[in-house]
This record gives sequence, C-alpha cells and structure tokens, in this order.
Amino acid sequence: MLLHSERKLVVEYGKKLLDTGLVTGTFGNISVYNPEENLMAISPSGMDYYKTDAEDVAVLTPEGEQVDGSASPSSEYDMHRVFYLHRPDVRAVVHTHSPFATTLACMNWTVPAVHYAVGYAGKEIPCAPYAPFGTWELAQLAEKTVGDGYACLLGNHGMLAVGESLSYAFDTAQQVEFVCEMYYRCRSIGEPVILPDEQIESVMRVMHSYRKR
Ligand code: 13P
Ligand code: ZN
Repeated sequence: MLLHSERKLVVEYGKKLLDTGLVTGTFGNISVYNPEENLMAISPSGMDYYKTDAEDVAVLTPEGEQVDGSASPSSEYDMHRVFYLHRPDVRAVVHTHSPFATTLACMNWTVPAVHYAVGYAGKEIPCAPYAPFGTWELAQLAEKTVGDGYACLLGNHGMLAVGESLSYAFDTAQQVEFVCEMYYRCRSIGEPVILPDEQIESVMRVMHSYRKR
C-alpha cells in the first residue's frame, strides 16, 4: 500500500478532528505530503471519520492524479495540493469548520493579535474572500491569503492551517480556534488590547523550540 504510515495518520487525525470539536459530521479534511515519494495522502470526501480505514484514504500526486485509495479524495484536494506545489516547508494541511473560526469567517474579519497564540498562524489571522467549496479559485485564494504564514480563515466557510507535520498543522488549527474564541468573547464585552508586531515576532521565534513533536 502506498504511503501506509501517512494514510494511518490521516485516519488517526480525522478522529481527533471530530473528538476535539474542530469539525462536525463529515466536514473538514486533512492531508499529509511525503516529499520523497512526491505523493500526498488525503481524507476521503464525505466519509464518516470513524468509518474511514487506511485503504479508503486517497493517494494523489501534487498535480491531482489519484494513484491509490478506494475512495474519492476530499473535494478540497486543490486547496491541499496547492501548498505542496508551492510551499516546500509545508508537509500537512488541516481544514476545519470549527465554530469560532467559522463565525469570524462569516464576518469576513481579520483576527488581530488579541492573544500571543496568534503567533502559530502569523502576526494575525487573515481571511480569504468567499469562493465556492472544492474549487481551484478557493485554493488560490487560500494560498494567497496564507502567504508565508500558517493559517487563514476562509470567508463564509471555515479555516485552514498548514505545517511541517500533521501534528503541527493540527495544533495550529486548535490554536487558531482558541484565538478566534478569545477575539469573539473580547469583542462581545469591549475593545481588546492588541499586541504589537514585535511581541508576536518574538513569540514566532521561540515557537519552534517550545513545541515538541
Ligand atoms: P469533503 O468531505 O469533500 O472533504 O468536504 C468537506 C468540506 O469541508 C468542504 O469544504
Ligand atoms: Zn469546508
């Protein structure tokens, strides 16, 4: 079986997506890229995360051709492969419809540095304009909005996080959801104090040594 360990990871983290409340039902999707094989493993489209086996997980080239897996790939495979094509540091992508990130995405808001954990994403969490799900247009907007950072909101849709490993991208998705919740709560009671760029830049410098694999 191609990408056996990556496909097992996709199954494991799919369950974590549901268990941590980052997605409901079959929404959201995750992928892992193996640069040696130049292949990606991506969650199947519309399949219950608890009924997904490693055999179901689709294996694709970064150009989008399916080479293994019994199920069809996530409808968002373009939004995953676009990072493997253009960001050599990215080895995993996590897409969620988590409640607070999606609330702010429905407002089309950029989330400022209301909490230092925003440093997981970048200096702020930008929001991509709306485009229909599963389109190349959405993939391009997501790539442009993430830029050289690690996450963005997807207007009227959800959130996207990328990282050097699935564990790191998943952590970033959780931290983005946390920061969005804090921003929502703060804006509900007043105007939060926003951290200056230099504070977030120093957090970003130490983040890699803080975070253990
Ligand atoms: P898939 O089930 O095809 O991965 O789609 C879920 C989703 O979140 C679409 O944006
Ligand atoms: Zn989605």
